[in-house]
Amino acid sequence: MTFEYAPAPESTAVVKLKPEYGLFINGKFVPAKDGKSFATINPSNEQHLAKVAYASEADVNKAVAAANEAYKKIWSKMPASERGKYLFRIARILQERAREFAVLESMDNGKPIRETRDVDIPLAAAHFFYHAGWADKLEHAGMGSNPKPHGVVGQIIPWNFPLLMLSWKIAPALATGNTVVLKPAETTPLTALLFAEVCQQAGLPAGVVNIVTGDGKTGSLIVNHKDIQKIAFTGSTAVGKGIARAIAGTKKAATLELGGKGANIVFEDAPIDETVEGIINGIFFNQGHVCCAGSRLLVQENIQEELLEKLKRRMALIRVGDPLDKNTDLGAINSAAQLAKIRELVDSGDAEGAERWSPACDLPAKGFWYPPTFFTGVTQANRIAREEIFGPVLSVISFRTPQEAIEKANNTPFGLSAGIWTDKGSRILWTAKHLKAGVIWANTFNKFDPASPFGGYKESGWGREGGRHGLAAYLKGVH
Ligand code: NAP
Ligand code: MG
Repeated sequence: MTFEYAPAPESTAVVKLKPEYGLFINGKFVPAKDGKSFATINPSNEQHLAKVAYASEADVNKAVAAANEAYKKIWSKMPASERGKYLFRIARILQERAREFAVLESMDNGKPIRETRDVDIPLAAAHFFYHAGWADKLEHAGMGSNPKPHGVVGQIIPWNFPLLMLSWKIAPALATGNTVVLKPAETTPLTALLFAEVCQQAGLPAGVVNIVTGDGKTGSLIVNHKDIQKIAFTGSTAVGKGIARAIAGTKKAATLELGGKGANIVFEDAPIDETVEGIINGIFFNQGHVCCAGSRLLVQENIQEELLEKLKRRMALIRVGDPLDKNTDLGAINSAAQLAKIRELVDSGDAEGAERWSPACDLPAKGFWYPPTFFTGVTQANRIAREEIFGPVLSVISFRTPQEAIEKANNTPFGLSAGIWTDKGSRILWTAKHLKAGVIWANTFNKFDPASPFGGYKESGWGREGGRHGLAAYLKGVH
């Protein structure tokens, strides 16, 4: 006899969607100058959610001018302890309105409510609390006795953790005394616009935070704006490289948080059941739309068979479906374009001779969906071993010796994250020392904290976000 779960849908009543949203410039919502707009949808059912203003050059110029005025006249003159109070206020409002943010994020992005409720929104609030505490203590952060902000910073974020990436950007920028112009991703603008309401509610002075919605063109207007002193970008390596080229030879500072192809390394002495949970969390958290996902499973050859049997059994229990159902583990793929990208890479895995496995699972008829999947028989040369799939697809590669594990793990143009699973502390330390990755987890995966710096080596990016290192990126001349 099998027992089925009853549906446990989260109500959407808490979210008051407007039919149309303006740009948030100088403390107010305003339409785009030329009246252009675009639609955002719910990727789990393709329903239209709202129209959002499209920012062109005149709008970006207006937002930068507002940020400049606010910097010169208000924010740079305000005592740091006062700045900190605004950040505390924003953090508390995010907590108070957490349910509303969680539901809206789930609707606009397609990620499960369990994750927005328990991860995205609490961590976003935690980033504001953490940085609020730094605002009046910067001269004790080991960055000189009088650290100075850049002025106006331009920030561009992706769609995989919309509100959380916004907090990673805005909280440290404001704490260090900068003002901002931020562009959310085209497919997930709604929580950034709700955040704009939070800024109003917190009484944040007009122009300190400006939010311009649009597409890649809007992003490049920010990158190339002459009055922006620093760029903070999270997104793909291809766009990141374009930004690096665009600002070369200018005085603009930049942090770039780009792609990854994280190795999750399992040694023969690893606690196997915990490891299986860590693998699941590493690749299926947020549909695998995670830059630091453990998307390459490196497993010691003598335990591969046992590990994969257990992994299959566990994957068969993953519940795929309505993101607003509290029992859902794996939600919708964020867009038709991302689904096409996943399919293209999976097809290349099939064509190059790797063996694909997914549990039986019913996918909803409407919306964008992909089942949890892994490939075995993957070689280092296969595209699925080298390129970021950014979906719920794991590539399994075996190794015989610890040295071989290191060589395979580091054999990638990326260097963002890695995981190590072993019973021995000495092996954790040895492995971590030899891995070229910015973030390394031991016997756990995908754990985040505002106090912990995050960032990559090689094509995974420049600079760090979070912690004391993240503050430095928002201060002039500090590295
Ligand atoms: P993306 O295409 O690079 O887009 C990221 C942001 O840049 C979006 O707001 C996008 O606008 C904008 N953009 C696009 N073209 C631009 C241009 N020429 N100039 C300036 N801005 C431009 O990346 P994505 O596909 O949305 O996000 C997935 C990628 O982000 C993955 O590679 C992932 O690894 C990476 N990521 C990295 C981290 C990290 O911390 N290292 C964290 C999360 C994600 P539109 O949305 O309107 O196109
Ligand atoms: Mg959307």
